[in-house]
Amino acid sequence: MDETTQMLKELTDANGIPGNEKEARDVMKKHISPYADDVTTDHLGSLIAKKTGKAGGPKVMVTGHLDEIGFMITQIDDNGFLKFQTVGGWWSQVMLAQRVNVMTSRGNITGVIGSKPPHILTAEQRKKAVEIKDMFIDIGASSKEEAESFGVKPGDSVAPICDFTIMNNEKLMMAKAWDNRIGCAIAIEAMKRLQNEDHPNELYGVGAVQEEVGLRGAKTSASKIEPDIGFAVDVGIAGDTPGVTENDAKAEIGKGPQILVYDRSMVSHKGLREFVTATADKHGIPYQFDAMSGGATDAGSIHLTGEGVPSLAVTVPTRYIHTHAAILHKDDFEHAVQLFVEIIKGLDADKVNEITYDS
Ligand SMILES: [Zn+2]
Repeated sequence: MDETTQMLKELTDANGIPGNEKEARDVMKKHISPYADDVTTDHLGSLIAKKTGKAGGPKVMVTGHLDEIGFMITQIDDNGFLKFQTVGGWWSQVMLAQRVNVMTSRGNITGVIGSKPPHILTAEQRKKAVEIKDMFIDIGASSKEEAESFGVKPGDSVAPICDFTIMNNEKLMMAKAWDNRIGCAIAIEAMKRLQNEDHPNELYGVGAVQEEVGLRGAKTSASKIEPDIGFAVDVGIAGDTPGVTENDAKAEIGKGPQILVYDRSMVSHKGLREFVTATADKHGIPYQFDAMSGGATDAGSIHLTGEGVPSLAVTVPTRYIHTHAAILHKDDFEHAVQLFVEIIKGLDADKVNEITYDS
């Protein structure tokens, strides 16, 4: 496994649920620190790595988010089964019978979201989705006391289990938490490739916390940084699987990162969007336009900081997001990194002024 693939594996295998991102943050810190002048956090735990190209130059914030969707234990019942709260957006149909790690203070405990065998379901029940409120996690405890003796407590985070896997087509990689460790990976890799390059700005590579519950860490980290330009780097919807129409989602994996023109949290900044697409065109980097009326990214928080920050979301088309096993294409990662390297090299004070005041 090459160094970059190893980083992708470490990032996605780490567990980081909203409000409990330490493990993912430590992995990001390990990989970005060699290329940053300074690594700090905000008070909620978002990681902020700064690399100064030109001191006093415009501040450019490139933000992935550390958290992945998961669950939180709310109660242990008398028979040792765990009730939970979803943390982030889950669809009930992708949850049943999935393996999970309960992150206790004494380490991870493997469990499964229990389900009834079809043998005892009526014809009517088989047609219906089970409601999340009726689901539970089985950790193999036979009583509340035994579950407690394993170290389980209300408030413990629960993370999906799906080991990082390179598929038979080696360009395709399956993992949990692509949403959004791929954004963290792009921030790391772009900073790495700028090691021996001039860039006329101060670059901030950020791993924000609590995106999945409302773009929260992006808000606090942007308050600390006070950026002049903001980017969210996240996963986008891939529409290239059976049953998804072009009308639902148009992007295909392997065809380049997505430039998100519109989402629920933000209207993309016209001047910044035009600068980014011109940069991609100039360097022959493929990209796809997309819009996501039903989703949001951290750029939704960043662009409302202070007097406003010209911002854009750049996403990597990904299949099966918000499930245990998502798939993306290595070329899209590579092209997103190339794009950010060129963007950052081009964002000098004059260009940022032009983008901010002249578009
Ligand atoms: Zn998400």
